Amino acid sequence: MRFTIGKKIFTGFLSAAVLLGAASGLSYYFMNKINDSYTDLINRRVTILTATKDIQVLALQQTNGLRGYLLTQSPEFINELETANEQLNVRIEQTGSLVTQPESKDSVQKLTSLNRQFKENYEQLLANYEKDRNQEEALNYFKTKVLPLGIQLGPLAKSIMDRQQQILNQGIQMNTEMVKQANEAAFLLSILAFILTLLIGFVITRHITGNLFKITKVMAGVTSNSGLRTRLPRIDVRTRDEIGEISYTFNEMAIALENYSTQEQEKSMLETNIAEMATMYQGIHDLNALAQLFITKITPMTGSSCGVFYIKQGSGDRQRLQRLAGYADNRQEIGFESFLFGEGLVGQCALENRTIMLSDIPEHYIQIVSGTGKASPSNLIIMPVEYEGQVVAVIELASFTKFSKAQQTLLQQVLNHAGITINSIAGRMQVERLLQESQALTEELQNQSEELRLQQEELRRINGQLEEQYKKSEQKTKELEITKMELEEKADQLALSSRYKSEFLANMSHELRTPLNSLLILSGLLAENADGNLRANQVKYAQTIHSSGNDLLHLINDILDLSKVESGKIEIVPDEISLTYICHFAELEFLQVAQQKGLKFTTELDAGLPPTICTDTHRLMQILRNLLANAFKFTEHGEVALRIHKADKEILSGYRGRIDLESAVAFSISDTGIGIPEEKLSLVFQAFQQEDGTTSRKYGGTGLGLSISRELAHLLDGFIEVSSDKGKGSTFTLLLPGIVGGQAAGTPIYNDEADAAHVEVTENEEKAPLLQLEDTAFAGKKILIVDDDMRNIFAITTALENKKMKVVFAENGREGIRVLQENPDIDLILMDIMLPEMDGYEAMRTIRQIPEFQSMPVIALTAKAMKDDKEKCMEAGASDYISKPVSLEQLFSLMQVWLYRQAGSYEQQTV
Ligand code: ADP
Repeated sequence: MRFTIGKKIFTGFLSAAVLLGAASGLSYYFMNKINDSYTDLINRRVTILTATKDIQVLALQQTNGLRGYLLTQSPEFINELETANEQLNVRIEQTGSLVTQPESKDSVQKLTSLNRQFKENYEQLLANYEKDRNQEEALNYFKTKVLPLGIQLGPLAKSIMDRQQQILNQGIQMNTEMVKQANEAAFLLSILAFILTLLIGFVITRHITGNLFKITKVMAGVTSNSGLRTRLPRIDVRTRDEIGEISYTFNEMAIALENYSTQEQEKSMLETNIAEMATMYQGIHDLNALAQLFITKITPMTGSSCGVFYIKQGSGDRQRLQRLAGYADNRQEIGFESFLFGEGLVGQCALENRTIMLSDIPEHYIQIVSGTGKASPSNLIIMPVEYEGQVVAVIELASFTKFSKAQQTLLQQVLNHAGITINSIAGRMQVERLLQESQALTEELQNQSEELRLQQEELRRINGQLEEQYKKSEQKTKELEITKMELEEKADQLALSSRYKSEFLANMSHELRTPLNSLLILSGLLAENADGNLRANQVKYAQTIHSSGNDLLHLINDILDLSKVESGKIEIVPDEISLTYICHFAELEFLQVAQQKGLKFTTELDAGLPPTICTDTHRLMQILRNLLANAFKFTEHGEVALRIHKADKEILSGYRGRIDLESAVAFSISDTGIGIPEEKLSLVFQAFQQEDGTTSRKYGGTGLGLSISRELAHLLDGFIEVSSDKGKGSTFTLLLPGIVGGQAAGTPIYNDEADAAHVEVTENEEKAPLLQLEDTAFAGKKILIVDDDMRNIFAITTALENKKMKVVFAENGREGIRVLQENPDIDLILMDIMLPEMDGYEAMRTIRQIPEFQSMPVIALTAKAMKDDKEKCMEAGASDYISKPVSLEQLFSLMQVWLYRQAGSYEQQTV
């Protein structure tokens, strides 16, 4: 256990305190004892003395009291007697309780019994006296029986008193003796405690100051020597207290200081060496000198005996380390002048950029030779010299002793500097070389810059010209913009005028058709010569008038068609149509023409085509009819053929866009006619263009047919191709997308003649084959004509009356309804649309609201100017419609259909 200074001092004081405590305790004990003794003496003995004294007095009082009573009979004496007797008992009892000595106890018992007897006797006496009052006898009794008892009490009490007095005196004497002894003991103990305390204090103080003195001495020894020494004194104190600790710590500190001092010395040595190495490079300009100087200095500085310096040369795969300088190296015996990277330890060190250290190298590895002998160093260090992480050199040092940490640090530091220096010297050498090269280049450059200056001047001149041109072109751009604006204005004007044109044409067509209507009907009637009263040449005139009127009608239709196509007013109504039916239609329409012109006409439908295609049937027919009509028109001999087939390869190769030709259907119309010269081929599709446009031409025509056909083909998402050989014939091919509608394969829509005929009726513009009409079918039928043009009314009435029909008429819608109501037996109404007051649409609507006329056949007559005429008529309640000018054949055909339709058919038709 550690016995610290604190504990030592505490122990000393504790011992002194214990001694003092013992002395005090002893004194206290004696004092207590003396005190007890005095208390006993005072409390008991004095009480006993007092009580015995009282007993003597009271015994006297008691006898006196009895005697006094007997002599005087005064009751006061009786009181005195009794009080004294009682008091006596009390005192005797008190004394009895306090005395301890046997003889005194006997005396107290005697006293007690004496006093009792005394009381018994005087009570007897008093009792007797009370009875007889015999004073004399009473006094006698008193003298003989009572008094002898009474006078014994006093001396008995006195004997007790004397004995107690004697004991009291002995006690006082004994106490005095005891006080004296106690004083002596206390004095002795105090002296002893004083001496012991002094002794302990002395021992502890000596112990502490002795060790402190030793420490002070050693420390003074340290500081009296200025500066640090290699060996510091140590304190030899091994106590297990604070001083021991101080000594231990001091010794530790001394060791640390010694180490520090050694390190400082090494450090300053290192710094000196590094500084020496650093200043060494000044004035060195080539690597050989640097290497030699470096190895010469560093080898002895690191305690080595031999050293070699390798420098990196070459680059890439040809990098190697070349020996530049050595220190005491034995070149004959060590064979390597250079190493590749990774070759030998030197190469490995460079490759890894890592120091390699070897100790305990074998004896024959290397030998250091001097004039007096040779020996093998046992330690080797190979270190890389690097610059920015790249090895630039390697040094190898050999030593007889181990390389210390300080030496390694020195090497490391010095090599860092060396790296920078090597790099800067190499750089400087490079710079010098480059400087020479650059001087040569500068001369070259001066020559070239002169040339450049000349070229620059040339460029400036060209630039000036360009700027001028740029200004001109800007002006042109402005002019162009103005022209463009003018053109846009013109285009707007054109669009406007084309709209005016279309509107004009529509109006014109209406205006022209109305007079044509009566002209055609009446000339037709004349040509029929039903009454047979016209001469042959008159019939011929009428026929000529009729056919001229027809030509005029065609012309009007063509012009109207073109203007509609151009203004985008033509609506395409796609439907499914059977390809077989198309062939059938062509034959039906053109076989007769072919026969008349003596030409062969064939139709052909290739295998592998869909049975139907989906397109606008009416427009398709219009195009084909046009192309076939041209073919017949321009062919004198040979044949005309219609072939429906898949698109040819040649067409495919020249085609760009619009339809998927793989599935396209081609309609080719070829003839062996006059053909079209190559240069005119592109012209024939333009409006009003003809191959022979001169006034002396052989073939008639307007030059509109092909342009209309081409536009219609476009509307059907197709196009028309032409190929021709002048004098040999032409082929016009219409290509349409081959979209097959629904599941229609093999089930053509128009698969019987009757249906086909019906379509042609509704296709009222066509000259389709008509039903064979029986005049008798119309006889007696009553027809209402509503029209504001009297010429028309006249013409149609004439035609109807020829068929034995009855005719009533009205000049506007309202009148028409009135006439209808007046003539409920009317079988059919022919309703013009453009009417004053109430037009045809409103009239039809009103008629349909009257229950009895809901199924009345109403055929609307339209000018066919607008594309939605038909829809409007059907919506307003027309059963059917026919366009002006009315072809009588068509009219009769249509009338026959509606007159013989079953009742309620209007609803069926419209559903
Ligand atoms: P039209 O026949 O009314 O003059 P088209 O537009 O139909 O007008 O034809 C324009 C021109 O193209 C014709 O005038 C004719 O010179 C030439 N042409 C059209 N089809 C043929 C054909 N099958 N053979 C020779 N020339 C044709």
